[in-house]
Amino acid sequence: MKIIPELRIWFLWGCLAILAGCYTVPETGRTAINLFGTGHEVSLGVSEFSKIKRQSPISNDPVMVGRLQRVGWRISQVVGGDLPEAEWEFVLFDEPDLVNAFALPGGKVGVYSGIMEVAETEDELATIVAHEIAHVTARHGSERLSHGVLTTMAGNMLEGALAGDRNRDTYLAAYGLGATYGIMLPFSRSHELEADRIGLIYAAKAGYDPRAALDFWMKMHLIKDREEVSAFFSTHPSDLDRIDKLEALMPRALEIYEQNRIRYE
Ligand SMILES: [Zn+2]
Repeated sequence: MKIIPELRIWFLWGCLAILAGCYTVPETGRTAINLFGTGHEVSLGVSEFSKIKRQSPISNDPVMVGRLQRVGWRISQVVGGDLPEAEWEFVLFDEPDLVNAFALPGGKVGVYSGIMEVAETEDELATIVAHEIAHVTARHGSERLSHGVLTTMAGNMLEGALAGDRNRDTYLAAYGLGATYGIMLPFSRSHELEADRIGLIYAAKAGYDPRAALDFWMKMHLIKDREEVSAFFSTHPSDLDRIDKLEALMPRALEIYEQNRIRYE
């Protein structure tokens, strides 16, 4: 029987995937392929975040920094069991023209001060911080990297893809860290929507009103023609699409919020 090359590659890919580790994504229960240990993720995140902190100005606005620390700490407390090894750190970068945020594997979250103009309340800030935290606990960076490595291995195009420091650039690229630190490659649309879904539940568990997510994304929609915002949208699903999906999840999120808000009043 003649097997077409694509089929052979997919068969090999499947065998490798079965041999590889799997990971259950929190909240959604999706099984994801993951070849990498959390220890590897944490050490990569720590070292790359310290580079970004050296290269980008860090805000010293006590009100804004305090707000981000409070929101980040509260959400990280309720996600603890989903990624116990995480070393959470939340840094506000003084970049008023950047309406964006990012997360690195292992628990490092960066927020650019431009987004604070949109996230006027702590509930709204919780929307974007919880979304970034969800990328971390869902281990989207490692999943993307694992898919890349498996596909490459299946194609017999890269030998020893998992070995040694010489593959550092491959690791970093797959994690979404380009040569210019702070510029992240986009996650896939499905990862984005999954981070929205998980983030909505995380924010509600931390006592933040999940309805603020609808306000936040609507505000982003209304200002999306601004140059600094359109870059954000080029890497994310349409805001109206994500609002629709978030509305569908709202009854459950509100139930969780009602159970937890009392702890923070
Ligand atoms: Zn995202």
